[in-house]
Amino acid sequence: MSSQRFTPLIDPFDRRVRDLRISITDRCNFRCTYCMPEEGMKWLDRAELLSFEEIARLARIFVEYFDFDGIRLTGGEPTVRADLPVLVEKLSGLIIPSTNKPVDLAMTTNGSSLRLIAEDLKAAGLSRLNISLDSLDPQIFNLMARRNHLDKVLDGIEAAIEAGFAPIKINIVMIRGTNDHEIVDFATFGRDKGLQPRFIEFMPLDADGAWTMDKVVPADEIIQKINDVYPIEPVSHGPEPAQRFRYKDGMGEIGVIPSVTKPFCGDCDRVRLTAEGKFMTCLFAVNDFDLRAILRSGGTDKELIEQIKAAVGTKWAGHNIGKVNFIRPSRSMSQIGG
Ligand code: SAM
Ligand code: SF4
Repeated sequence: MSSQRFTPLIDPFDRRVRDLRISITDRCNFRCTYCMPEEGMKWLDRAELLSFEEIARLARIFVEYFDFDGIRLTGGEPTVRADLPVLVEKLSGLIIPSTNKPVDLAMTTNGSSLRLIAEDLKAAGLSRLNISLDSLDPQIFNLMARRNHLDKVLDGIEAAIEAGFAPIKINIVMIRGTNDHEIVDFATFGRDKGLQPRFIEFMPLDADGAWTMDKVVPADEIIQKINDVYPIEPVSHGPEPAQRFRYKDGMGEIGVIPSVTKPFCGDCDRVRLTAEGKFMTCLFAVNDFDLRAILRSGGTDKELIEQIKAAVGTKWAGHNIGKVNFIRPSRSMSQIGG
């Protein structure tokens, strides 16, 4: 496709959609309480997952036809998918038509396998990493992830630093009464290691259905607690969901993602592809669009493009978490792709 032929994807609320989250597996080696049930997850059959070729074809359409500038690989746990660097290599070469620059290719991972593959991912062209880590205390980590792997994750973070990823963001889902006493510890950890903590408000996407509003730790409280110890000031930012702050002493940044208390839907520029090829225009969308059916019935790029446009035409203004008309999605976070 020539660089003259891209068509920006605009939704009914005049938002330019340009960021694609791709879930590459529904499986995971952890069972975080806020995401998966302890037992009984039904995994997709291998044949149901999009192949690397199918993912790469769709990614090419989003970047080259719709001028998307960001792709994030997620899951489930993306590093449990075999030969991940091969996929990264296929995607990292995509060029954004409007800027002629490579697409920003990021990944969110629980970090437990990074000692094994961080270097290969870097060499394959992965640009950025978010690593999830909910507690620095082994017992609380174990309680939240239901796996005793804090050491592995900390070592994975070291491996990512050694491989040259920078800046690395640390995703922390805050849950009242569980890890909210560690806010300042995480700030200190980030300052010491040159990492950017991103505190995420707990969303009602847990498979156990245990979410309640009183388990949400409001972003404002997190900002306040950090500012009391390490003074911070806001950093202006684009459509990204995180509100960013920098330390006044120059020792780095933190972010908060106030998905529940201050939804950022008005700036939302993202869409999602599930591991089995369902296209979703919101984490909380109740409808999805089957791109795999088009791919596997020999559909043309034009047919895929028309389906994507039609789907984006249904993107809603925003979710209503905490309001009476909120509809809890039937899929959990690991099934949609966080
Ligand atoms: N397995 C990888 C990981 O944990 O980083 C990638 C997938 S995970 C679904 C993506 C992100 O979603 C993680 O940072 C995770 O903490 C976050 N997440 C999962 N369930 C959540 C929930 N109910 N509320 C807020 N964030 C959640
Ligand atoms: Fe796995 Fe990530 Fe979900 Fe935890 S948050 S269970 S690591 S997919």
